Amino acid sequence: LPPSCRVVITLPLGRDQVLPTCSISPPRSLLQGKGPQGPGDFPCPVCSKAFPLQRMLTRHLKCHSSVKKHVCRYCGKGFNDTFDLKRHTRTHTGIRPYRCHVCAKAFTQRCSLESHLRKIHGVQQNYAYRERRAKLFVCEECGFTCAAGDEYYGHVRRLHPGNALLHKYLRKQGAASLRFLLYPGGYYA
Ligand SMILES: [Zn+2]
Ligand SMILES: [Zn+2]
Ligand SMILES: [Zn+2]
Ligand SMILES: [Zn+2]
Repeated sequence: LPPSCRVVITLPLGRDQVLPTCSISPPRSLLQGKGPQGPGDFPCPVCSKAFPLQRMLTRHLKCHSSVKKHVCRYCGKGFNDTFDLKRHTRTHTGIRPYRCHVCAKAFTQRCSLESHLRKIHGVQQNYAYRERRAKLFVCEECGFTCAAGDEYYGHVRRLHPGNALLHKYLRKQGAASLRFLLYPGGYYA
């Protein structure tokens, strides 16, 4: 090629990018989800704390944002995500949705129950693997729990009609079902 036809591409090099050579290493995306890796695979660019998975880093990054969108209704403390707010709110409400089936001790967090089962009762968590994935709907107003969204929203509608989450949910469902849910008998007035 005549020199005028040559195109030089300069790639911005990050700290763990490599120059394109013949040695090909699998992309990070292929390595994800294959069990625990070294703790340093996904370092936070802000505080350099390292995470084994990209999604964990993504979640962690939110804690460096100065905007805390989720505010505790009891003490006004701000949180970056609903999960942290929920966990915190339960320290005020005393809601413990996760109950040990062996000794009936109750916990605010699923992971606390799991470590209790392991340490106190010697229960290995294999059987709980599917349970871990099953969503548990928890009413943060009274501690009611159920496995289905319909049942959960039905409960909130009946017992806590002023609940903000309920209204957000109903808005998402659209106006027709909103009328149905608020006035299931067809009475709109
Ligand atoms: Zn960080
Ligand atoms: Zn609080
Ligand atoms: Zn127990
Ligand atoms: Zn409730």
